[in-house]
Amino acid sequence: MTTLRQPQNFYAGNDFNRLAERRTDSDWIGTMLLSEQAAILPLWNGRSLVAGGSQIPKLTWITPRDLSTPPAVHQVVLLGEFRGRTYFATDVKSETPPVPEQHGEFHDLRLVGGLMDRHEAGLLGYARALLMWHDKHRFCGKCGSPTALTSGGHVLKCSNTSCGLSHFPRLDPAIIVLVTDGERVLLGRQAQWPQGRYSTIAGFIEWAESIEEAVAREVREETGILIDEVEYHSSQPWPFPSSLMLGFIAHACSVEVERIDMELEDARWFSRDDIAQGAIILPPAQALSYRLIETWYDRGAGKPLHEELDVKAASFAQPGKS
Ligand SMILES: [Zn+2]
Repeated sequence: MTTLRQPQNFYAGNDFNRLAERRTDSDWIGTMLLSEQAAILPLWNGRSLVAGGSQIPKLTWITPRDLSTPPAVHQVVLLGEFRGRTYFATDVKSETPPVPEQHGEFHDLRLVGGLMDRHEAGLLGYARALLMWHDKHRFCGKCGSPTALTSGGHVLKCSNTSCGLSHFPRLDPAIIVLVTDGERVLLGRQAQWPQGRYSTIAGFIEWAESIEEAVAREVREETGILIDEVEYHSSQPWPFPSSLMLGFIAHACSVEVERIDMELEDARWFSRDDIAQGAIILPPAQALSYRLIETWYDRGAGKPLHEELDVKAASFAQPGKS
């Protein structure tokens, strides 16, 4: 549960108690799984169970008994307490959906998450990230033996006693940066995005560089622009599959755009007028990239961006990649 004063980005600022102190208490987890308080969030084929389909998706849960084989202590992730229930997540491998339709439908969180209550989407994102990590780390990377879930699903331990390596959840730090020369903003687009969609520059941090250096390198590689100042904005967990987006606003000290690594299909400068007039489609409002653009826009415009684009709010409900 957050008590921070800063506004939190979507998939952060969640209203649940992780109960981290209970993760190593297998007896407590076993008892809780049998109690009326237990709520299971199943993941099936990488998809999350939601009620209400893709129209107004809502969090829904099942009990351990709803599954043909109720999950054991070593098959669940202890997510924590949320709105009076103790939530667990489990990955179900089956040909067909593991529960009948009246329990809900399985959807890709990437498509439905942005339409949901932020705390409900946050809990599903947390479940998805850990279960997808389990799925990709079923064998020890050092000795090749199977791994087993421990610590309430937050540690994968090698089953080979002569190895015994513990594997911890993977989190990939990535930068996302709004580059401005003061009056204009530098945005780019990837070829596979919907036509007209532009967004901020992003990329993964590499070894042997600081976060600030990663910002400067990514901007130069993707757009040829040099920057001389980097200001931290905020961060966003992005569970597709395991990113932590670190958001910045950077000042450009060059103007000539040149796509050096050709990762982007296009990159160019836009004015506040261009954005207010709808010259491009912005990222969805739940994405950190949108918040960066909004922060820059509102610093220099008479009318806040969300009021300027009020009529186009419906298009922001569409999920997309930041
Ligand atoms: Zn091992």
